[in-house]
Amino acid sequence: MNRIILASGNPDKLEELRWLLGGLEVEVVPVRGIIPDWKVEETGATLEENAYLKARDVVRRTGMPAVADDTGLFVDILGGAPGVYAARFAGFDCTYENNIQKLLRTMLCERNRTASFMTSAVFVSSDIEFSVTGEIRGVILEEPDGDSGFGYDPVFLPDGLDHTFGRCTAEEKNRISHRALALRSLREKLMGSGFLD
Ligand code: IMP
Repeated sequence: MNRIILASGNPDKLEELRWLLGGLEVEVVPVRGIIPDWKVEETGATLEENAYLKARDVVRRTGMPAVADDTGLFVDILGGAPGVYAARFAGFDCTYENNIQKLLRTMLCERNRTASFMTSAVFVSSDIEFSVTGEIRGVILEEPDGDSGFGYDPVFLPDGLDHTFGRCTAEEKNRISHRALALRSLREKLMGSGFLD
């Protein structure tokens, strides 16, 4: 069995990755099971740079292959903001609610509300590196609706659905989300990479 370290402290991502890599000869191990206080400053200018910062740090410190991802919310009328800064749009140590309120204030009376969630996911080992992306388009509603999910889910209405991510079941979101698309591409690319041979 091949072991891959997930370079993230988020337990929800662990479950999602295990599920999406199901059936492969791969065991996904959380980085904090090996380095309990692991943390990397996400100083990259792009999602891909941040994902590589995390995965390469884990490979350097453990010698084992790693997967990492990074997600941003890109609002068209705001020139792509908050983008890579989605987690700290309303400041360091802010809550999801603070970020949503800042986004709604910034977009007050704005009619063009189109946006994308984008995820970059990377795989890094001592001899293979690659990155993949996943994107979902949608619109930012004028007020939150639903309390499932996390982050900006209650204000994001994905194209093709009549309800927000905040009203989706986990299964429904996992069928269409930016992160699920990226991780499915990662699975495909891993299968063709020779890593599993
Ligand atoms: P991360 O890179 O996955 O930690 O995501 C960075 C930030 O983007 C999070 O703190 C959330 O605010 C936002 N975000 C990421 N994925 C989602 C999602 O699926 N729904 C809503 N917000 C998300």
